[in-house]
Amino acid sequence: MFLAVAIDTPLRRTFDYRVPSGTARLPEPGMRVRVPFGRRRVIGIVLECRAHSEVPASKLRTIDATLDEEPVLDQHLLQLLRWAADYYRHPIGEVLATALPAALRQGAPLREERFAWALTELGRSVALSELPARAVRQRAIVTHLLQHGPTPRDELLSAAGAGADTLRTLAERGFLEQIVCPRPIPSTSYSASEHAAGPALNQAQQQALDRIAGTLGTFATHLLYGVTGSGKTEVYLQIIARVLARGEQALVLVPEIALTPQLVARFRARFPLPIAVMHSGLNDSERLQAWRAAREGTARIVIGTRSAVFCPLPQLGLIVVDEEHDASFKQHEGFRYSARDLAIVRAQRARVPIVLGSATPSLETLHRARQRPEWLSVLPERAVERAQPPRWVLIDLRRNVHTNGIATPTLLAMQRHLDAGGQIMLFLNRRGYAPVLFCPGCGWSAKCKRCDAHLTLHERANALLCHHCGAQRPRIDRCPSCSAATKPVGQGTERIEETIAQAFPSASLARLDRDSVRRKGDLEAVFSRVNRREVDILIGTQMLTKGHDFPNVTLVVVLNADQGLFSTDFRASERLAQTIVQVAGRAGRADRPGEVLIQTEYPDHPLLTLLLRGGYDAFAAGAIAERQQSHWPPFSRLALLRAEATNSSLPLSFLEAALELGRNQDTRGVRLLGPAPATMERRAGKHRAQLLVQAGAHAPLQRFLQGWIPALETLPLAKRVRWSIDVDPIELL
Ligand code: ADP
Ligand code: ZN
Ligand code: ZN
Repeated sequence: MFLAVAIDTPLRRTFDYRVPSGTARLPEPGMRVRVPFGRRRVIGIVLECRAHSEVPASKLRTIDATLDEEPVLDQHLLQLLRWAADYYRHPIGEVLATALPAALRQGAPLREERFAWALTELGRSVALSELPARAVRQRAIVTHLLQHGPTPRDELLSAAGAGADTLRTLAERGFLEQIVCPRPIPSTSYSASEHAAGPALNQAQQQALDRIAGTLGTFATHLLYGVTGSGKTEVYLQIIARVLARGEQALVLVPEIALTPQLVARFRARFPLPIAVMHSGLNDSERLQAWRAAREGTARIVIGTRSAVFCPLPQLGLIVVDEEHDASFKQHEGFRYSARDLAIVRAQRARVPIVLGSATPSLETLHRARQRPEWLSVLPERAVERAQPPRWVLIDLRRNVHTNGIATPTLLAMQRHLDAGGQIMLFLNRRGYAPVLFCPGCGWSAKCKRCDAHLTLHERANALLCHHCGAQRPRIDRCPSCSAATKPVGQGTERIEETIAQAFPSASLARLDRDSVRRKGDLEAVFSRVNRREVDILIGTQMLTKGHDFPNVTLVVVLNADQGLFSTDFRASERLAQTIVQVAGRAGRADRPGEVLIQTEYPDHPLLTLLLRGGYDAFAAGAIAERQQSHWPPFSRLALLRAEATNSSLPLSFLEAALELGRNQDTRGVRLLGPAPATMERRAGKHRAQLLVQAGAHAPLQRFLQGWIPALETLPLAKRVRWSIDVDPIELL
């Protein structure tokens, strides 16, 4: 027998191995094996057992050992991962490595070994008669073990009121020993009455719940479309209660868990049962523990970020993807998968419903929902306090005087809201003090040596930072070519904070960006200060779109909407609209209508006017129509071949050769666009270029890639550049 083994390497293939003769039990697909690989020993995953191998017998090597007695990845998950490797054209070994906790890749046992203390023969027969009556704790331990049998350490110590030294003493006398005890079978029965009941749902929520509940046990892709505070999470909680009552597990995917601890807290408060939380902040053993709990069925709910989509859930009954539009569901390096899209595939294969929730759904999801209206549920209003819709105003930056990026009408509006006791939120998607440091004498500006980009001045750090490669240089006060004094140009959040502090000296300010929020808990601390009304004006980046409502915020200002309007990336406008709506959606209450000011140099831009007149719905309708006309997704499928190298001409040469190869492939239904240099041609010292593959549908794209990608690997230039394929890319820059 031969094994096809997946190994964590960048090669798009599996490796055949022999099983030692006389092996009693053949390894099964999904089990780990230790194998010789080159001069190393590595751990791989068995994909198939075969009777034949194409590899000549002289070259076949034999596995060293099988590490598992049962598959680490069950057949469903293994099939899903193989499907994903095919779909994203990524090496299966790396795909499996993404799915498995690091500890398992390094050989940790699949199941947790639980140790228990037990009496030895000696202990059982003589301990009680030999121990003096005053050795109360030692006797208590022995008595407990005589009555209850082997007991885990902590349980034993607390039952006997003893400390670890007591155990040691008994063990030294030969009365006790540690044994491995099998984990008790977890109870999966769960009655709906055990959890705290949620509030009675409003009509829209109830309708959504009924619709989703009606599809339990089958596949359906629900969109739960509702503004922040409309009660989406409450619907998740109540549908999950039903899933649990069916004896099933639920998987909840969220964009960034560090930003949503209150979500986890809400789940824990509602359900008195084990919940596993999986995110990048876990260490290896915590991650392994959460993964095991999910796999063994102890954890009934798994809440996690992107990679939790690969978490084993033997009794999966429902998947929820919260904030489904969020870009962080897509991995940007290595195995470039979309956790949202894979979650849909997983739900389909497992025949369970998936709920995608958002206040600003992606155009793909909205488009799908239009085709299946029976799976669309809209929550039109806030659940608790009906907020009046905010008033939206565009401020024309060309026609108004502005101070460091803040127009006079904006300053006046801020004063008005402060006087009325409201809080204010200012959004600017650029951290630091100023994006450019410029010399008025000769026109010099501070640029990154390794990127085609300006260095951003950071006042607090007193340095120039590159936001693309992380390079850092001391601040430059005199122009290196003409010695004139340099001048910061443009605005970042630090400078806005300074300007606002001067304009409103008695207001208290807080800033929220990656520089001001560094440690765990910082973000929460700022949010709670805002909610305690200790902050009058909150200035921040994208981070403002996360987190709770701010009911006392009555004015939201988008300081510069223009960054997203004229990008070469067809998704930039969608992202801009989502951000504006998300930021604006945090504000306002029933008794105080909110106001949203959007500063722009292009007040007539069709996107902005649609958004202003009809909200996200109108914007989305317009944007979907535009995508249809220009054949962008969801009306086409894309794959992007990227290449980079230190040498400036190699990436384009490689892509030219790739294009040439592509023309010889099955190009029915496929268009090749490019190659062209990336928008930022040089980044971190590498020159970058790309070639876009566009297809009318999924099938021709996959057919083309299937032939093309293996062919690319044979190009001589392929070894001289770093290249990657990104299927369904979400950034085209
Ligand atoms: P979303 O997830 O859409 O932001 P939430 O589910 O967090 O909305 O609901 C917002 C607030 O309204 C929460 O405090 C929640 O407890 C409350 N809430 C939600 N639904 C109801 C309801 N039917 N009755 C009373 N309060 C509700
Ligand atoms: Zn100069
Ligand atoms: Zn740089």
